[in-house]
Parts: sequence; structure tokens; C-alpha cells
Amino acid sequence: MALRRPETRLGHFSEYLKLCGLKKEHLVSPLFVSENKRSIGAMPGLSISSLDDIEKYAQNISDRGILSVILFGVPSRRSADGKIAMDAEGIVQKATSRIRSHFGSSLTILTDVCVCQYNTSGHCGIADKDGRINNDSTLELLAGIAVSQVQAGADIVAPSAMMDGQVQAIRTKLRDSGVKAAILSYSAKHSSSLYAPFRSAAFAKSRTELDKSSYQVSYANPRQAMREIETDINEGADMVMIKPAMAYLDLIRMAKDTFDFPLAAQNVSGEYAMIKAAGIKGLIDEHEWKVNTLGSIRRAGADRIISYFATDIAEYV
Ligand SMILES: [Zn+2]
Repeated sequence: MALRRPETRLGHFSEYLKLCGLKKEHLVSPLFVSENKRSIGAMPGLSISSLDDIEKYAQNISDRGILSVILFGVPSRRSADGKIAMDAEGIVQKATSRIRSHFGSSLTILTDVCVCQYNTSGHCGIADKDGRINNDSTLELLAGIAVSQVQAGADIVAPSAMMDGQVQAIRTKLRDSGVKAAILSYSAKHSSSLYAPFRSAAFAKSRTELDKSSYQVSYANPRQAMREIETDINEGADMVMIKPAMAYLDLIRMAKDTFDFPLAAQNVSGEYAMIKAAGIKGLIDEHEWKVNTLGSIRRAGADRIISYFATDIAEYV
């Protein structure tokens, strides 16, 4: 199949993204950070950054004009209670503080607030002895993680655990601790196999196929997605999110029309992997579909788009 080279379409792509209303300031680039750099097999072209070089990775993003990053920690050890996630010397806290001291206020730092990369179960909450996720005892931990990240320099904390009451618990703890940050809540995080490529990078094999449907939203239930968003707005979120993005553009539009509230969408690892894999096989024009995808998410109503393609399409916006 003869696919036109993307350079010949630079003007076309730019024009299209302009029509969609997409600008650089809408884009947020994810950064995985660990003690050591390694490639991610399921996400061709991406790697986990090493803490020692984190400024270099952030610089590469900022050089393309993307001025927001979201940090995901991939720690070298886990604990049963997940409390290492709130360690002031934890991987995300250290990375945040290094980026903050290097860039000052020129880069907006978002941090993922969850326990699944830090506890032994791989679930987003802490389990009781019977194996059931204990929502309320997890809230305290999430709030503690958020405070430690803000103390390290995060501008925006992004709770992704899908525990009921997580926004209110974090809001209260930030206030009581005398620190300020905005909260971007992963309000409607759908239970989906599209997270598998990320999980393969951040989790041991035994934890990549966990069933999180007891606390994540079912894709068969759009009304629940809207209810989750409404609850988070009422609890004090500054921005809400729908995740994944590509198959939920209608919900992005519905949420924007219903709530008229700052809205983010995450173009997740599986969406990245599908486009990359088909592009590598020569089945589709990869650049065209990066551009189409991010343009459509913006057009659907997202004010912020977290995407592994953010830096790739920066030249067109
Ligand atoms: Zn999680």
C-alpha cells in the first residue's frame, strides 16, 4: 500500500487541527519514571525514563512547546499497604522536585495519584483480609499521596483510583496540610483492556489482567459515567476526566454539554498501541491517525488531552 509521506501533508494536518480548535496548551505529555530507563515492548517508540535523566525527558517535551507533563511512577519495589506511594523520597516525589527545580514554573506538573503501582495486589485500592477493596481506608492513603506530591512541587494532582469520595478526601487533606494544588479527577475511568500496554510496563505479569470492574465504570453504562463526573464536581474537583478517549467521544461531548465544566480526556496506552502497531505494519498512515484522533478528541469537547502522541503532533499545532 502506497502511503503518502507525512511531510507533504504538514499544511493539511495543521489546517485540520486548527479547524478542530486544537492548540499546544491543550496537550499533556505522560512521563513514566523509574530508577532505570527501559523500553516498553507493548508501546513501540516509548520508554520508561530514569530518574537521573528526568530533566532531559522533560526538556524534550518542553522543546516541542508542550508545557504540561503528567508523571506516572514505576517504583522498583512494592509494599502490601502501598504506603511507599506517599514517601517524600518516592519516585514521583523525587522526579517532581527535580523537574520543578529545573523548570521553575515554566512547566505544569501533574501527578497520578493511585496505589496500583505501589501495592502488592496491583489494585487501585487497599484490600481487606478477604480480598475486597476497602474504599474508605484507601481514601486516607490517596489523600496522603496527593499531599506528598504537592509538597514535592506538583501543580495538579490527578486521582485515578476510582474510589468513592476520593476528591473530597484529597481536597480536605490538602487544605488541612496548608498546601495548594488543583485536582484533576479521573472521574469516568472505564474498565477496559485498553490499559494493558501501560500495565505491561508498570506491572508484573501476574497483575496485568486484574478485574477492576467493581470500582471502574462499565462502558455499557454511560449514565454512571455522568453520575461519577457530577459527584466529583460536587466534591470540589477543578477538572474532570473521561478515559479512554477514542470510543467515548460521545460521552466527552455529553459531559461538556451537560456540565460546562473543565474536561480532560486520556488517549490511553491501548489507543497508542493500536495506531502504532497498524502504522508499523503499513496498514494505515500513522501520522494521519495521530492527527485525526487528537483532533477529534478536542472537537468532542476536551479542554486537556493526555496523550503519548502529544509531542509527535506538536509540529502541526
Ligand atoms: Zn490505579
